[in-house]
Amino acid sequence: MPKPTLNVLQSRAWQVSLGRLLLLFAIALVVGFASGYVLPALVLMFAGYSLWSLYSLLRVQRWLLSRTRLPPPSDMGVWSDVAEFIYRRHLGSRNRQRRLVRLLRAYREAAAVLPDGVVVLSAMRQIVWFNESAARLLGLDGQRHRGMIIDRLMRNAQILAWLAQARANDPLIDVPAPADPDIRMSMRLIPYAQGQWLLVVRDVSMLLKLEQVRRDFVANVSHELRTPLTVLHGYLDLIDAEHDPELDGMVREMRKQSARMAQIVEDLLTLSRLDAQADTHDEPIAMTALLAGLRRDAEALSQHQHEIRIEATSTRDLRGSAKDLHSAFANLVANAVRYTPPGGRIVLRWFDETGGACFAVQDSGCGIPAEHLPRITERFYRVSTSRSRDKGGTGLGLSIVKHVLGLHQARLDIQSEVGVGSTFSAHFPGERVIDAIAPDLN
Ligand code: ADP
Repeated sequence: MPKPTLNVLQSRAWQVSLGRLLLLFAIALVVGFASGYVLPALVLMFAGYSLWSLYSLLRVQRWLLSRTRLPPPSDMGVWSDVAEFIYRRHLGSRNRQRRLVRLLRAYREAAAVLPDGVVVLSAMRQIVWFNESAARLLGLDGQRHRGMIIDRLMRNAQILAWLAQARANDPLIDVPAPADPDIRMSMRLIPYAQGQWLLVVRDVSMLLKLEQVRRDFVANVSHELRTPLTVLHGYLDLIDAEHDPELDGMVREMRKQSARMAQIVEDLLTLSRLDAQADTHDEPIAMTALLAGLRRDAEALSQHQHEIRIEATSTRDLRGSAKDLHSAFANLVANAVRYTPPGGRIVLRWFDETGGACFAVQDSGCGIPAEHLPRITERFYRVSTSRSRDKGGTGLGLSIVKHVLGLHQARLDIQSEVGVGSTFSAHFPGERVIDAIAPDLN
């Protein structure tokens, strides 16, 4: 069948139809002149032609209504052309539709067997579709739960609070699976299309178990190292090598290194303890006394080589673990002293801010290059290993700070410029800040 064209003169069907009409017209004229009835012959011819056209139209209409998959009849002149055009369009869209359905089915089949649970939620949070893993973890049933609002199906308070916030890219980690509390899972909400959500749930029991094994290992190794180190340290202290300058230097270095190892072990044990904690103490902490204590510690470390100041504009106090917060703040202050050359300035700040309060340590020290900032709170991450060792650092201080602040729902912010100095700020939320407590409480 030739391709339908909009140019009448190029269309084969139009050429045939027009030719046929002209031929009929010529025959009618000849018959008319021969019989002496020209007009009736022409009228008859046109009437016949119109009837044939109407009949062809009727056949096209029947063919359209019959929804047949067969091609249209080809003996209707221009009408066949029109019908053929519709037929081709229809075939094209049917093939496209088939391809789309096949693609959709392939996606669904792939999503259905994903090891992660996937739930498609409407803008109103109704369950549109879910795969086998989601059914297994969340206890969903296709018959009963499709179309229901997901929030109404969950019983766990943590999951409900998280769903209520519905924050994308803020996953919920380590919650018991509704279908089996022994399974621990993580949940993530991903927005897509117009207001729709993809809820992705993952069985993380194995990962959490491995993480626990790692934590136990670090805690046990640190614990086991503590006793032999104490013994070594003790004997090193007893060695009297003052009469032998060479031996004296060696013993001094050994003492220094064993003290460093002991400090690493202590820091690792502190981290293990903080890691295992889900929440923290809730005691009032008087900030005035804490700041004064931190300043005294800093001055002892600095040996009066730095100018150390307190600038406290807030009269409020904190709620949390006094021991852990003191250790975190002391770490920040010790770093400021260690990484600021003699003659530098260190300011301890305590001030109110929108939604809470902030403790900050500002120094005029060497600063930290920007590329190190994202990783600076990782365990054993150091800008310069040799400099940190020289200063007696373990590389665990900021990691401890981050853990302690996390347990207090606080956030660590670091601003630093090389050669100008650094500011480490601990931002505490309003629920951790209390009105000043009576002095005898702390
Ligand atoms: P360390 O025990 O080595 O000091 P930390 O975890 O406390 O370990 O700090 C990690 C690294 O961050 C340090 O090695 C140091 O390079 C850098 N750092 C920390 N505080 C400061 C500061 N106030 N000024 C410049 N560098 C700092």
